[in-house]
Amino acid sequence: MDLGIAGKTALVAASSKGLGFGCAEALAAAGVHLVMNARSEGPLRDAAARLRDAHGVDVTEVPADITSDAGRAEVLSAAEDADILVTNAGGPPPGMWHDWEREDFIKALDANMLTPIELMKALLPSMMDKGWGRVVNITSQSVKAPIAVLGLSNSARAGLTGYVAGTARQVAPSGVTINNLLPGIHATDRAIALDSGVSDSQGISIDEAKAQREATIPARRYGTKEEFGAACAFLCSQHAGFIVGQNILLDGGGVNATL
Ligand code: NAP
Repeated sequence: MDLGIAGKTALVAASSKGLGFGCAEALAAAGVHLVMNARSEGPLRDAAARLRDAHGVDVTEVPADITSDAGRAEVLSAAEDADILVTNAGGPPPGMWHDWEREDFIKALDANMLTPIELMKALLPSMMDKGWGRVVNITSQSVKAPIAVLGLSNSARAGLTGYVAGTARQVAPSGVTINNLLPGIHATDRAIALDSGVSDSQGISIDEAKAQREATIPARRYGTKEEFGAACAFLCSQHAGFIVGQNILLDGGGVNATL
C-alpha cells in the first residue's frame, strides 16, 4: 500500500533502537525524511546511516536528552517544519507503590507526559497552518490495564492520554490527527531489562522469565519493532486522516478486555 507520505518530514524522538527505531524505519521505507534522536551518539549515528543507506531519505540525527529543555530545543531546531511527530522516551523503572518519592514522579512525568506535550505544543502550530499533520505518541498498554510494578508509567501515561483526548479534537479541524500507540510486550532492550527484573525477583533464569511472560500473551510471543513501526506508519499515512484521538493496543491480545 502506498502510504502517500513520501517527501514529508518526521521527527521521531528516542529512535536509535527499539520501538522508536521501528517507527523511523517504517516511515523511511514510505519515503519520509527523518530527524532522529537518542542520547548515545554512536548508536544514533549508526541507526541513521542504516536508514539513509537503505531508503535514500534525508536523515538528520540529533544526539540529545529529549526529556531536558536544552535537549528538546536542539532537536526541535532541526525539525521546525516537521509534518509528522512520533514522541517517545525511555520508560520509568519498575518498583512498588511505596518506593516512589516526589522526585521519581517528577522524572516520570517529565519523560512520559510533559516531554510529548512540549513536543506537540512546539510542532502542532505549523502543522495546523499547513492544514496537515500526524502525531503518534508511543505510550503503553499500562494505560488500559495497570501494570502494578510500573506505577510511575501507569501514572505519567494516564496524564498524557487525558491531554491527547482533548487536544486531538481541537486540532482535527485543521487536518492534524493525534493518536496513541499502546505497546504490549515487544522484543526490545526494554523487554529484556524487565525480564531481568522478573528473573532477579523470582530467582529464575531470564529464559524462564521470558517464557512466563509469553504465556500471558494470547499470541504466545513478544511483538516486534517492525510490526510496531508498520502500525505507526499507517497512522501517519494519508489513509488515517479519520482516526482521531484513539488509543490503539498492539499487545497480541494481552489486555483481556472487550473494548
Ligand atoms: P528501548 O529498546 O530501550 O529503546 C529506547 C530508545 O530511546 C533508545 O534509542 C534510547 O537511546 C532512546 N532514549 C531513551 N531515553 C531517552 C532520552 N531521555 N532522550 C532521548 N532518547 C532516549 O525501549 P523500547 O522498548 O523501544 O521502549 C520505548 C518506549 O515504549 C518506552 O517508553 C517504554 O517504556 C515503552 N514501552 C515499551 C514496551 C516494550 O515491551 N518494549 C512495552 C510498553 C511500553 P539512548 O539510550 O541512547 O538515549
